[in-house]
Amino acid sequence: MRYDVIVVGLGGVGSAAAYHLARRGLKVLGLERFGPVHDRGSSHGHTRIIRQAYFEHPDYVPLLLRAYELWDELQARTGRRLLQVCGGLLVGPPAGQLVSGALRSARQFRLPHELLGPAEVKARFPGFRLSPDEQALYEPRAGILFPEECVRAHQEQAAACGAELRFHTRVLEWDSDGSRVRVLTAAGIEQATSLVLAAGAWMPHLARCPVRLSVERQVVFWFRPRRPEWFQPDRCPVFVWETPEGFFYGIPAVAGRGFKAARHHGGDEVDPDGVPPVYPGEEEWLRARLADRLPEADGGVEDATTCLYTNTPDEHFVVDLHPSSPNVVVCSACSGHGFKFTTVVGEAAADLATEGSSRLPIGFLSLRRFG
Ligand SMILES: Cc1cc2nc3c(=O)[nH]c(=O)nc-3n(C[C@H](O)[C@H](O)[C@H](O)COP(=O)(O)OP(=O)(O)OC[C@H]3O[C@@H](n4cnc5c(N)ncnc54)[C@H](O)[C@@H]3O)c2cc1C
Repeated sequence: MRYDVIVVGLGGVGSAAAYHLARRGLKVLGLERFGPVHDRGSSHGHTRIIRQAYFEHPDYVPLLLRAYELWDELQARTGRRLLQVCGGLLVGPPAGQLVSGALRSARQFRLPHELLGPAEVKARFPGFRLSPDEQALYEPRAGILFPEECVRAHQEQAAACGAELRFHTRVLEWDSDGSRVRVLTAAGIEQATSLVLAAGAWMPHLARCPVRLSVERQVVFWFRPRRPEWFQPDRCPVFVWETPEGFFYGIPAVAGRGFKAARHHGGDEVDPDGVPPVYPGEEEWLRARLADRLPEADGGVEDATTCLYTNTPDEHFVVDLHPSSPNVVVCSACSGHGFKFTTVVGEAAADLATEGSSRLPIGFLSLRRFG
């Protein structure tokens, strides 16, 4: 037995898990089918939103507060810029899922926030046009994570703590007898005491979980704004907008790129090994939403890319022990909102792999909820 823990997948969650395990002094092997940072999974595209007043469920807030601590710590350890706070707006009808859900979390956890009407939003953030029946919850601690930098930082720190990370090594199969796992790759069999499965969009094939995980194709666009100065982080917070046709979100122009925006969900279910590229005209749904709401944002599309969501039926994550193997951790299926949590999910995965439980409040992410 050469390793304490094998981590499969070194993307957002797996790189964090490898780091948290290695810093505890464990012998860790990380296996990744592609290169160190790549654009085939779910953790590319330069930017991700991080926010605290979580409309999806208040139970996420304690994990978010811990995630902020861990991102700050990782940033200090590596000297890399991982997080840029620029504030966030959650916009929609006051009784809708987004604003009322965010308000519930903000009040329950006394998070700093303000409720703004259309005129107040326009005065502070000139690019935004809310309709009279919409409201915005502003949270000052929301901002931008740089996902490729985050993954690189976790991988670097894991290796610095002694983890062995092997890239271009695909895991084909695994099995467990409850106290030992065997992992098969094209190069042979590796063994360890525990296994962490963090394979993102490939989890449906690999995890053998008793829940249906679906992989959803998403497309993000970068626009050249007509008024570039309105879409910089000092005048344009990150945002999510609830419209009658669905949710979309945006991120100000940073890192030399344009204003980024995308529809949240609404994509086709796909095979992660055969994702169709962006097709001409695919931006039209988004353009129609931007036209009235952020009219100066769309001066033409600058770039676009595809990315993958891995969804559970209730769109909450899975962070748990495997139901048939107490030494196998399943952590993934972040349902399109997991990047901000990757560092704390990695910490929880390290707890589960070493102690079989975690002091972090992850009970609501257990597989048991699916029966
Ligand atoms: C367009 C888009 C926008 C998003 N925006 C946000 C946002 O603003 N805020 C937010 O918090 N979240 C956001 N998310 C969600 C977030 O990015 C994902 O939840 C997160 O990146 C998932 O991380 P992961 O580790 O599960 O997957 P990944 O980072 O894809 O990692 C899985 C890794 O496993 C590897 N792997 C798979 N199979 C094998 C195998 N057999 N052997 C070895 N390695 C394997 C893959 O190559 C990959 O590197 C967004 C997602 C997308 C697609």
